[in-house]
Amino acid sequence: MTHHLRSGLYDTSPLYQNAVLDLETAARVMDLNPGVLERLRMPKKAMCVSIPVRMDDGSVKTFEGYRVQHSTTLGPGKGGIRFHPEVNLSEVSALAMLMTMKCSLVGLPLGGAKGGIRVDPSQLSRAEQQALTRRFTMEIISMIGPEQDIPAPDVGTDGQHMAWMMDTYSMAKGHAVPGVVTGKPIEIGGSLGRPESTGRGVVYVIEHAIELLKKQNKANYSMKSMTAAVHGFGKVGAVAAHELAIRGCKVVAVSDFYGAIHNKNGLNVDEVQAYMNKNRTLKGYPNAEAISNEDLLALNVDILVPAAIDGVITKANMKNIKAKIISEGANGPITSEAQQYLEQNGCYIIPDILANAGGVIVSYFEWVQGLQQFFWNEKEVNEKLAEIMARAFNRVAGNAERYKTGMKTAALITSVERLSQAMLLRGLFP
Ligand code: NAD
Repeated sequence: MTHHLRSGLYDTSPLYQNAVLDLETAARVMDLNPGVLERLRMPKKAMCVSIPVRMDDGSVKTFEGYRVQHSTTLGPGKGGIRFHPEVNLSEVSALAMLMTMKCSLVGLPLGGAKGGIRVDPSQLSRAEQQALTRRFTMEIISMIGPEQDIPAPDVGTDGQHMAWMMDTYSMAKGHAVPGVVTGKPIEIGGSLGRPESTGRGVVYVIEHAIELLKKQNKANYSMKSMTAAVHGFGKVGAVAAHELAIRGCKVVAVSDFYGAIHNKNGLNVDEVQAYMNKNRTLKGYPNAEAISNEDLLALNVDILVPAAIDGVITKANMKNIKAKIISEGANGPITSEAQQYLEQNGCYIIPDILANAGGVIVSYFEWVQGLQQFFWNEKEVNEKLAEIMARAFNRVAGNAERYKTGMKTAALITSVERLSQAMLLRGLFP
């Protein structure tokens, strides 16, 4: 395969470089049409905006914001809005690419997009966050819409931010448009089970992995005798920890931005959650020992769920990782090099685009329920989620066997198979 010039605009972050590297690996293994690969290496459209905000003290601060659509071949763009101090165009573009792959992998009629603002939201008041969110929405309004591109929460944002985005968009259009975002609060058209969906999915696929390893006579694990560590106790990590605990798995460590807590006898996840709700950090939690985030990753546990941020398992610390199964709750937590090393050493990695797809699946349910104005109960949501996750897991595991690869490459192959067929059928405009 010819090697292309790197894009100067998008290619500046390790996350983007890793995403392209992974895509090229999958393309090689599946013998992908080179024109399709060429197109998928770059996003379709990107917008960079400056967002001036009047702060509570009367001063004006300006923030950088982005919305990137990687592909809209299969349907409207879909992807979260991240508020984090490290956000940049390259990272957002990489995350948009992962969204394309994720939506295609699980068979949704949606493309891939992502957005973000370079800001530490913990430093802003509620009023400042609202002003920031509303002005950002207005700046990117030409790009978003229920048939065009549908944002959702991501790191540093939640249902409240989605409610402000929905209201701002609706004000501009002159009528309520709930379909412009997902991850909304229930009162304005959100779906039951959406907040828990990603964390639940992360654990569903661990169960499937345990079953598969047993069937293949590779290992005979049982959730009840396993230990786990969860990196990042946020919207994804906290639910994953809870779902592991209710299945009898011993969750021995969890962490947030400020550090980790460890108890070798198992943490009481509900108690940890209550402490987090009250103190907004795990720091100072009494019934555990304080350790660093690096120490958490290196613990001798059976299951590791990196659910904070990208690029946490790299060449620098891959040799310390002892977990037997890793379910990627976060997007891109393991670099390509570390993934290859760990897989060669017998670690079973369930890749992000499969493991954390629960969120976008229930976002899709929310969008469908909103369009039909017909809402499902939580049991229906969870059953449909479990069904789609199981089907996706089996397709990926099937491709892993067929192509003799790890799950990461197999997941990309599975999604690119569907996407490239759609691209070739639609053809190139003009
Ligand atoms: P969140 O903001 O709710 O939680 C993030 C957690 O990670 C927090 O506990 C935070 O303190 C911690 N954290 C942040 N930076 C860290 C660092 N450098 N080291 C250690 N901990 C750090 O975000 P979330 O929605 O749970 O998202 C977490 C990851 O999951 C992201 O990669 C996101 O893209 C991905 N994801 C989220 C969803 C979703 O539905 N929310 C869906 C798919 C993927």
